[in-house]
Amino acid sequence: MPKIVDVEVLKIASPDAAKDDTSFDGVFVSRPTDIFYPKWKLGDFIKITAGATVVKITDENGNYGYGFSGLYRSCASIVEEFFKPLLIGAEANEIEKLWDVMYCSSMAYGRMGIVMLAISAVDIALWDLFGKTTGLPVYQLLGGKVRDKIKCYATGSDLERYRDLGYKANKIPIPYGPHQGKWGMKENMKRVENVKKIMGDDTEIMFDCWMAWDPEYCAKMLKLVKGYNVRWIEEPVIADDYDGYRRCHDICNENGILLTGGEHEYTRWGVKKFLDMQCVDILQCDVGYTGGISEMRKIIAYAKARNVMVIPHAHSLPTFHLSISSLQSPFAETLLIGDLRGRLFKGEPPVIDGTITLSDAPGFGYELNEEYGIRLEF
Ligand SMILES: [Mg+2]
Repeated sequence: MPKIVDVEVLKIASPDAAKDDTSFDGVFVSRPTDIFYPKWKLGDFIKITAGATVVKITDENGNYGYGFSGLYRSCASIVEEFFKPLLIGAEANEIEKLWDVMYCSSMAYGRMGIVMLAISAVDIALWDLFGKTTGLPVYQLLGGKVRDKIKCYATGSDLERYRDLGYKANKIPIPYGPHQGKWGMKENMKRVENVKKIMGDDTEIMFDCWMAWDPEYCAKMLKLVKGYNVRWIEEPVIADDYDGYRRCHDICNENGILLTGGEHEYTRWGVKKFLDMQCVDILQCDVGYTGGISEMRKIIAYAKARNVMVIPHAHSLPTFHLSISSLQSPFAETLLIGDLRGRLFKGEPPVIDGTITLSDAPGFGYELNEEYGIRLEF
């Protein structure tokens, strides 16, 4: 079995982070911080967080795999300082063991947040490398495809483009929450009307509330969307508010709408509590946050036992490999409005008739786009 001989950690800032104009194609989403700031545009958030930690792991045969996560400054430093010394010289294909080595060695200060982002990036790189070593796509290593294509939804506001690409589902980054009162509710509804007008009546609509609502606001908004084709309400309350989730879940289900969340939940242990409390109908963990492919496999198995769908957060090839090999994941998110992960790597599958198909290239079938982003020094 090949040993790991190099772990290269790259801090890649998005070009968006360097712009003075922080608007992000005019899209901004509600934030829990709206109570403190007049409006925190998505662009402002991107300026702080936009960028990727990319991990390249090379084995003694010259094969390499890429993994990634967010928070390019702090997450990259954790991989470099804490995990790299543990990985050099280890057996590259002992992925399960290496996950536990990283988790157990960082448990005192880790378990979630930035440390779990760092573990995720390494784990994804190890799976990509395992694919290259065996000559197989990762979905094959996960048990093979359960469907030929992945049906996708588009997040963002580039509605004409989504319509022309054949999408039948759009997730709206909802701009307003309780702090903007009735005026904000009307503005939210203008977005809904716009999707209906441009993409058609049969387009499914989803709301991404990014933890900025509360149960009362959720109930009031649901009255306004009656008769529209709203499929789900996403993350209406902060990630730690399990009781608030549960109340919003009841409110949504009474209105025939699903509640989704888990984008900011970490590992099998966080997800277990989240699902045991029946917080959501659809789980949306992120492969780059929650512990990588290894942890997502366990999370998907637990979700299946509880009959909860898993539609992972964000756009990435590792996510698509999970989705195409899981019966629990019949739908995937795509971000075409300039999402970093979609531009960071070459090999992205095109969207055709609102669906994507995956190639049989080894690993995740991607290569780092060397021209993209701004490389920062340690
Ligand atoms: Mg979200």
